[in-house]
Amino acid sequence: MVDRLSPGTGSRMYSTPSIRHELDRVAVMGGTHGNELSGVHLVKYWLQDPSELQRETFTAIPFLANPDAAKRCTRYVSQDLNRSFTKASLTAKGTQGDLYEVRRAQEINQLFGPKGSADAFDFIFDLHNTTSNMAACLISDSEENVFTMHMCHYIQKHTRGPCPIFLYGCPGQENNSLLSVAKNGLGLELGPQPHGVLRADVFSHMRALVACGLDFIDLFNQGTSFPTLDIVVYKVIEPVDFPRSPGGELLGLIHPQLQDKDFLPLKPGDPIFQLFSGEEIFYEGDATIYLAFINEAAYYEKGVAFYKTKKCTVSIPPLEAPVASAP
Ligand SMILES: [Zn+2]
Repeated sequence: MVDRLSPGTGSRMYSTPSIRHELDRVAVMGGTHGNELSGVHLVKYWLQDPSELQRETFTAIPFLANPDAAKRCTRYVSQDLNRSFTKASLTAKGTQGDLYEVRRAQEINQLFGPKGSADAFDFIFDLHNTTSNMAACLISDSEENVFTMHMCHYIQKHTRGPCPIFLYGCPGQENNSLLSVAKNGLGLELGPQPHGVLRADVFSHMRALVACGLDFIDLFNQGTSFPTLDIVVYKVIEPVDFPRSPGGELLGLIHPQLQDKDFLPLKPGDPIFQLFSGEEIFYEGDATIYLAFINEAAYYEKGVAFYKTKKCTVSIPPLEAPVASAP
């Protein structure tokens, strides 16, 4: 059973299902990017021993999302799996249908979706690492995911260290991520950790975050309501590329004063890039903003040096306890 939230008035470019029933179909995905090793190895471990994923009211399913990429320890084989869940990809046939990640997205959609349908899984956790200094970043497309926002708040209260919330959705734009297959989901983006490397601190932190998220679902399933809350989020404004030549060659790099400053204020006039010539490039906006994914290794090919975000506090409606199933 899925109903549609209708807070406020006016048209909305997208709507997000809210959960009014117990969640019993939950998956934990790792290796969506095959060289982000915390998720790859947590999921491989849980496939051998899933006892950590059991709760009183449900058992989450571990799933290695991109096994071929994980085997090669590369982000993807043919194209980014986490950009492959478009309607076009999920229905592609012929040449495009032969791409490994397109086929894999279709398989995942069959197993855990279909995307947008009543049969879709209730919740997916998607485990990622970043080379950026993002701490334990919690990722969703929109604050309209009421269930996910309450889970984020719960995780912030019950785990150590900062857990900034990064909202990547743009109204009117199709959500092409793996998370979009399920009714609700949460991305975990832990860093800094080099791709192809395991760090014990990051590994155990990710494990604790997943456990906390599962605890939250279990509490909800057992009849807990959660009151309205105000929560700080970072909403994407736009990506920014490195300085490049007309031919696309890099002309500079992240300014040393900006490196590792994810989610810290960037004021007008602050340096952002240093050209190889030594010249500095400064932020010319007129408002303080916050950057995320600063110097993420996988984004050089995407033409992204960092994402600009705006920090705001949003009010989240209460999360009512689930409606008891009919006997
Ligand atoms: Zn990733």
